[in-house]
Amino acid sequence: MLADQREGLLLQLGQAVISAGFTLARQRLTESPEGVRLMLVVRGPQAQLLALEERLGTHRLVRSFEAIAHEPGQPLNGASYGAPPVTQAPRTQNAEPVARGPAVALDMRRIEAELRLLAQDYPQVFPRLLSLERSFDAESKSTAMRHLGQRIGAWVYKRDFALGAHLAPADALKHVAVPALRPLVQAEAHAANALRIRNSPFVVAGKGTQCNCHFFSGYLEALLKEASGNTAAVAVRETQCRGIGADACVFEIHS
Ligand SMILES: [Zn+2]
Repeated sequence: MLADQREGLLLQLGQAVISAGFTLARQRLTESPEGVRLMLVVRGPQAQLLALEERLGTHRLVRSFEAIAHEPGQPLNGASYGAPPVTQAPRTQNAEPVARGPAVALDMRRIEAELRLLAQDYPQVFPRLLSLERSFDAESKSTAMRHLGQRIGAWVYKRDFALGAHLAPADALKHVAVPALRPLVQAEAHAANALRIRNSPFVVAGKGTQCNCHFFSGYLEALLKEASGNTAAVAVRETQCRGIGADACVFEIHS
């Protein structure tokens, strides 16, 4: 990553790495005419990788940022230290698909730029979301769409609902999630801990074998979490999808 100043850089980014659940394996700080270049090698849970990248990529000290996921079991190539930024992760011929981090194909700066445009267009977001979805490869699509949903959901909560009292997820489902979804889709509460969406635009009827509406899982998760004052651990899973033959998409909320 590239920064304008070196003071506090390693300390602050090191703290961001650790608070995201990662350990710092190596670091290297060099100065160049473009600015201060910092390379961090970190280890940690793959599921948190996108969150860590977002934290680093949007950190106030960081001007530009690139991430390379590393396949476990292979030595790090020390020769690449100090090399010009790599824009795409090297792909090895025989790598296991699961070994590669989901972030490889994701460009966080692009996602941040898209989020600003989505906020401007809201609630007319589906043309942009659908074209974004098509641009992700199969590996990163669900993570990326869920991430976009989380960011938009948290933003909508802060914009439209933040003045309300904090609510448990079951109450927030009716009083926050359903009204928040109304400008986007036909949504209704379904039993105590689920929500139905009748017309998800992410459905390609009859084509899929898996639930495909990752954006809404992320969106609901963030809304319900924010509504609880970030005190509840909320997980949302799409258990039925119109894309695989159900009447509607059903999202179950676990808290
Ligand atoms: Zn669905």
